[in-house]
Amino acid sequence: MRGLKLGLVSAVLLFTTTMTQAQSNMDDVEIKATQLSERVYMLTGMGGNIGVYVGDDGVVMIDAQYKGLADKISAAIAEISSQPIRTLVNTHFHGDHTDGNAAFAKQGVKVVAHENVKTRLAANEKFDREGLPTITFDKALEVKTGSTAVRLKHYPNGHTDGDVVVWFPSSNVIHAGDLFFVDRFPFIDLNAGGNVQGFIDNVRAVIADIDGDTQIIPGHGGLSKRSDWLRLVHMIEATREEVMTMKEQGLSEDEAVAKGLSDQWADWAWNFITEERWIRTLYK
Ligand SMILES: [Zn+2]
Repeated sequence: MRGLKLGLVSAVLLFTTTMTQAQSNMDDVEIKATQLSERVYMLTGMGGNIGVYVGDDGVVMIDAQYKGLADKISAAIAEISSQPIRTLVNTHFHGDHTDGNAAFAKQGVKVVAHENVKTRLAANEKFDREGLPTITFDKALEVKTGSTAVRLKHYPNGHTDGDVVVWFPSSNVIHAGDLFFVDRFPFIDLNAGGNVQGFIDNVRAVIADIDGDTQIIPGHGGLSKRSDWLRLVHMIEATREEVMTMKEQGLSEDEAVAKGLSDQWADWAWNFITEERWIRTLYK
């Protein structure tokens, strides 16, 4: 009894400590805005990069990072434009892009996403209902703001099954969502409709529609160009080849992890997608 009670107390303490740490981590986060064109900005903080478009009659923002950062993000956008935020687009359902949805929705911002994003968010009991997308689409959607429109296009089964790439009007800028992790092994969410071949195909499809000068806001990493994105595609193709060769030689998934990739890919590993996790994704 006593042991059980102590265990419970330490579990509660651990939980409280974790929450406090999460909050103080947020307190340390600074939202930085970078202007990319007359009306387009990129905001970085913690989580997926945010895109901001200043339209004729309001601001369209792409992704919302975490709830605990909503006030700082609002303040950063208020410095860019005195117009109200009208629309928030989610590039996909992951928490580091959608946790802040409810905070903006409560201020009257419309949340727009692919229909699979709404389905996945609604299935998550912990997700604040007020942050659920109210406007959903399947293949493509134009978010009109006066005479111009932000174009959203869905790409099936890549990072997840609800990925959207965003084209900003009258500027050569796009937001790639998590189809783009800069110089890191990407997260391909196999449990949520993600697919390695689909990821490659989708990136190549987007790349065919942009040019060498296009500024690309990646889901994670700094502002990039097409050549940076191609480097990611080439890495995926080359590491997949290495893992497929091991599989054909009869190595099990664990044996492939133990053998590892060739040294040239070591710099692509990071705390979330380690070499082990990347090999397991490719093997599956
Ligand atoms: Zn993601």
